[in-house]
Amino acid sequence: MNERDSEIMAQSLAEHGFVETMDMDHADIVILNTCSIRAKAEQKVMSLLGQLRIKKNKHPKMQICVAGCVAQQEGIDLTRRFPHINLVVGTQHIYQLPSLLSRSLQQVKIVTNLSNSYEIPQFIPNFSLDEENQLQTNNFKQIPHKKFVTIMQGCNNYCSYCVVPYTRGREVSRPAADILQEITALVKDGVREITLLGQNVNSYGQTNSVTQNASPLTFAALLKEVALIEGIRRLRFTTSNPKDLSEELMACFQEVDILCPHFHLPVQSGSNRILQKMNRKYSVEEYLDRVESLRRYSPNIALGTDMIIGFPGETDADFEKTMDLLETVRYHGSFSFKYSDRPGTRSADFSDKVPEEIKKERLSRFQKRQDAISLEQNRKYVGQKLEVMIERNDAKAVNGRSPSNHIVHIEGVVSGHSGDLVLVEINHAGKHSLKGRIVV
Ligand code: SAH
Ligand code: SF4
Repeated sequence: MNERDSEIMAQSLAEHGFVETMDMDHADIVILNTCSIRAKAEQKVMSLLGQLRIKKNKHPKMQICVAGCVAQQEGIDLTRRFPHINLVVGTQHIYQLPSLLSRSLQQVKIVTNLSNSYEIPQFIPNFSLDEENQLQTNNFKQIPHKKFVTIMQGCNNYCSYCVVPYTRGREVSRPAADILQEITALVKDGVREITLLGQNVNSYGQTNSVTQNASPLTFAALLKEVALIEGIRRLRFTTSNPKDLSEELMACFQEVDILCPHFHLPVQSGSNRILQKMNRKYSVEEYLDRVESLRRYSPNIALGTDMIIGFPGETDADFEKTMDLLETVRYHGSFSFKYSDRPGTRSADFSDKVPEEIKKERLSRFQKRQDAISLEQNRKYVGQKLEVMIERNDAKAVNGRSPSNHIVHIEGVVSGHSGDLVLVEINHAGKHSLKGRIVV
């Protein structure tokens, strides 16, 4: 989601005549798009802001802008701590970045997020399209073959550890017609793979109609509409809260042929006691039922998950249940994180915090076992012929993605371009990638 937001900011600035540079020392404007999901992400922002103070001393006209979740969360406090910041842009104001910047260039310090602005659901602008529904690509770098498309913003779930409902606000679904128009324009421009984005795509369309953004389509119905757009070759989505995973959506893995057999289904813990404290609203048994159904619809589906290790109150026995879940589901891959207190969340006030050392030990045991399972799962692809969409083909590397979203390194000389589909026979599997040769 942050990547997509960065793209939106870069695109809107390019349309207003700003030129991108990757060299911070030469930049007149530096924009930090920030994440506050865990303390570590936030610490990175603070340390970069410290470095920027030194750069700004050498280059006093440099404008420093902080956007994204840390901006939303900290607001005016950021400018108190780092007076060299010129502009703080909350998560829902990134669309106005060019006009905000032109004001801040006149030496006005601006903080947009205004602590409760996220209480007011915002309309999600049809950003990439002009009045004739053409893509606005003038002046912007070449469109790659795969793109993210935002279908909703915010989240209403309030998992007890999570800062997202506070930094990204209430859930708002984008009208289906806007989404379909944007994707049609992207595909016309050469995009071949689309990933639909939302914090919990399963509740797409259920937004309170007061916002006038509720859609009559369910997420599964939206997927089917998108799949009808001519020229689109691959479809993915992220993320899904298992509590709202419908039979209708699971069936899409059988019914929609361009929907890739890959599903990221964050579970967070293998212990019902912890899931309850996390306010996840499903049990391990319900989760496993859904995994079983998914595998009925799509036997070779590659499953991924997110796991929080060392949530407050997690005992050795709870952690063992998480390890057991790994053995039962056998994920192709997972993202695992040590629990981190976030400001304003309920779990930040829980008293029974797990010591850092124990979190570290558990995380390392978890990751070691996951790596071994990933390798075992990936070895099943050896000998198979997979359709690979090329991502990179240059002197340094030739690779692409399989339908299961594995990176596939391609051996030998390859003539295809990024976005082309080739058939690759897999001859080697690693824990995070596959390797093979093109076959005809
Ligand atoms: N909307 C997605 C999650 C977005 S946040 C979903 O519900 O699945 C991405 C991941 O960050 C989460 O799945 C969770 O595993 C992790 N995460 C969120 N808050 C965290 C915290 N306070 N400490 C550690 N990990 C956290
Ligand atoms: Fe955070 Fe839960 Fe919403 Fe995901 S569903 S963004 S974890 S509150």
